[in-house]
Amino acid sequence: MLKLYNTLAKQKEEFKPIHPGKVGMYSCGPTVYDFAHIGNLKTYISTDILRRFLEYSGYEVRQIMNITDVGHLTADDVNQADTGEDKMLKGAEREKKTPQEVAEFYTEKFFEDLKKLNIEKSAYYPRATAHIPQMIKIIEALIKKELAYEVNGNVFYSVEKFPSYGKLSGIKLEELKAGARLEEHPDKKHPYDFSLWLKAPKNHILKWKSPWSLGYPGWHIECTAMSIEYLGETLDIHTGGEDHIFPHHENEIAQSEGYTGKTFSNYWMHNRFLLVDGQKMSKSKGNFYALRDIEDKKYSPMEFRMLALSAHYRSNVNFTWTAMDQAKTNFKKIVEWKTNLQNLAEKAEDKKSEIDFSHIYQKRFEEAMDDDLNTPLALSVLYELITETNKLMVENKLSEETAKNILNFWEKINKIFGLIIKKERIDVSQDIIKLAKERKEARKAGDFQKSDELRKEIEEKGYIIEDLKDNEYKIKSK
Ligand code: AMP
Ligand code: ZN
Repeated sequence: MLKLYNTLAKQKEEFKPIHPGKVGMYSCGPTVYDFAHIGNLKTYISTDILRRFLEYSGYEVRQIMNITDVGHLTADDVNQADTGEDKMLKGAEREKKTPQEVAEFYTEKFFEDLKKLNIEKSAYYPRATAHIPQMIKIIEALIKKELAYEVNGNVFYSVEKFPSYGKLSGIKLEELKAGARLEEHPDKKHPYDFSLWLKAPKNHILKWKSPWSLGYPGWHIECTAMSIEYLGETLDIHTGGEDHIFPHHENEIAQSEGYTGKTFSNYWMHNRFLLVDGQKMSKSKGNFYALRDIEDKKYSPMEFRMLALSAHYRSNVNFTWTAMDQAKTNFKKIVEWKTNLQNLAEKAEDKKSEIDFSHIYQKRFEEAMDDDLNTPLALSVLYELITETNKLMVENKLSEETAKNILNFWEKINKIFGLIIKKERIDVSQDIIKLAKERKEARKAGDFQKSDELRKEIEEKGYIIEDLKDNEYKIKSK
């Protein structure tokens, strides 16, 4: 039974879906004005692990991820992020393109990153700009309920009218000191009131007609509108990065619950940040790498996935090149183990294996994942299995059938890890193959001196020969 840390309850809770066997999951997606950085991608990998583990546990998951192509202003760190430039317009200005072109380009790039990282596709990726009527409808209802008010063509949510405001993030409105009012918007009645709709300045490109002004939506309302549209009024799980707890998700709750009168999401899963030198990786700090940057340094997306898996999703990952090297080593260890198993398993006969490793390891693996998706612990269980089976392989004590059994277990758990391991392919020239064959014959004939000489010759040409059972061998590059 999966126990998930629920930010709302501030503790781990047993996961119980609204409808048996089904999970509705909403994940806040990217603002598509630039490449996603690997911090963003760490969050999407953790969400992917949750999704994959739910599927492994037998649930049918419907995941929706929005694409923010309007309304997200740059002043992220300021109160309700209702000031600053529109991120999309900033991107458009920088690239001398229309906001739509910018959105299209970076959405495509984002999908490419997801694919490279083997992140499962959401059922749908709704765009904010395609849901303006739904947002307007909700804003109208909130005004009618007196939870929102209009001033000068701007509409704000009145946080004081929503009694449980702060229940997710723990902020308390009354603790806001007099005089410490955050200078945000002159039309707001309370500094924590947040925009639902903003009147567009004259040259603002992205704008729509509304009952209040020619304008554009605030950042938070899109998620309320699109989650209700595609998943209904109550979600099973809502995910995002830790910076979203406040204001974004606190405000989503106020809007959605104010509108429907129902619980917005039963579980809230938040990922901790990826850090660089102890600081959050972010575009505004200029300390960010995109996936392509680490690929340029000859690390593969799978090695980055490995790095993300090696930390619990509620721990920070400190990004360093040393940590990437470690991830590379760990990934290589898995690849080599799997390749060796595969070589053995290919010769398996149709009979039962003498040891059922999956039986021994599966329970421990599932316990780790059930405990709030403890991927580092799950990986350590895998590493134990690797050590044990490698030892048996070296001693020629692992039967083909057992190798097949372990391989099947690996395929099963890798549905959660999601590591793509391509069949190892090394281009070995014909003369090396010829030498290796000669060496095999020498070994068969018991001529170990010749076999050793041939091994040396192969090594001098840059290859290593690994002996397997029954005089079989594997050629690897050095
Ligand atoms: P954004 O495109 O800014 O809306 O961010 C997309 C997702 O990435 C959100 O869920 C953020 O909370 C998350 N995020 C942003 N910075 C980081 C970081 N340094 N580490 C992990 N997640 C992050
Ligand atoms: Zn959102």
